[in-house]
Amino acid sequence: MKKSFLFVLLVIVSLLGADITVEYKSSLTPEVIRTIEIDSTDYFNVYELNKTFKANISDDLLDQRLNVNIYSEQLIFLMDSSLLQYGSDYFNMTYNIIQQDGKYFLPVVFLTDLLPQIFSNLISWEKNKLITKTPTDNSIKRIVLDPGHGGKDPGAVGYSKKHFEKEVVLELALKLKKKLEQQLDVVVLLSRDKDEFISLQQRTKFANENNADLFISLHCNAHRNSKINGIEVYYLSTAKTDEARAVEAMENQVVYEYEGGQEAVRKYDDLAFILADMAQSEHLEESYNLGANLQTALVSATEAYNRGVKQANFYVLRGAFMPSVLLEFGFISNKDEEKKLISSSYQEKLIDSVFIGIRDFKMKYDQMQ
Ligand SMILES: [Zn+2]
Repeated sequence: MKKSFLFVLLVIVSLLGADITVEYKSSLTPEVIRTIEIDSTDYFNVYELNKTFKANISDDLLDQRLNVNIYSEQLIFLMDSSLLQYGSDYFNMTYNIIQQDGKYFLPVVFLTDLLPQIFSNLISWEKNKLITKTPTDNSIKRIVLDPGHGGKDPGAVGYSKKHFEKEVVLELALKLKKKLEQQLDVVVLLSRDKDEFISLQQRTKFANENNADLFISLHCNAHRNSKINGIEVYYLSTAKTDEARAVEAMENQVVYEYEGGQEAVRKYDDLAFILADMAQSEHLEESYNLGANLQTALVSATEAYNRGVKQANFYVLRGAFMPSVLLEFGFISNKDEEKKLISSSYQEKLIDSVFIGIRDFKMKYDQMQ
């Protein structure tokens, strides 16, 4: 009795103030969870779980709870309480969760005791270390750039009638791929890297089959009125304005003209649309955020007229099961914008802005995974 008490005391003393090592069963380098002492108890910042277990953490101030998604399971911590809910079970961490300067701290006992208990088949506490399998990495690693149109489909025709959308967006895509791969830790795949016709369905199929984490379709706009100019970004939705409907009709026209007319349209519609739309709506908020990042960066770098972040129902975005946006870099039907769109200095501005937009989105997105 006395012996075991001493042993427990020794373990507690040896643990106090010590950081916690997380060892992975794979070859991944071990990580360390830093601990800090609050009111004589060892705590750790809950965001350390993001680093070590790729946990997704969000607070819900309305319901006074902190949600931690770890190994696809949801743990709910009740604020100002030592209780944690998992499914219909409650676990007691002995010490309350602490909120300080917008950060949340959990008692270390959660790591040493409760995590191995809740995830007994995935996590164990051995020799003062947490041993676990490699967490799944949901960060953005693969990006599909989709230069619109191509081959027999020229896309929008320039004011001069000498330049076509399909050429401008391919140039932009090739340059953007180079920059993204050089400066971000990502692989960039192009739905086309030469002047060839690719159906809208093939484009998203390509992204889905390659497990892309982002899908970005690149376009230039056109309007009957050559005065119209500016940059706009679209993300998928069924709700839309009349103007968005016009652009949508133009970009979707390829289905009528080059992909078998009415029959092909019917194929995209109905059930396929509903299914794709449901899958996409999962990423609606992310797609919007990505679109907003891109639009802000593009407009501030180019000083082009800001036509906003819009919702539309593009066929090309429909089939993508990942955050996806469609960029309209400007109106090639406008004399000035056509000149800009084909100039390498302006293209550089566009590329730098898209790079910044993607980089910032990736930074936030990766942290949330
Ligand atoms: Zn287009």
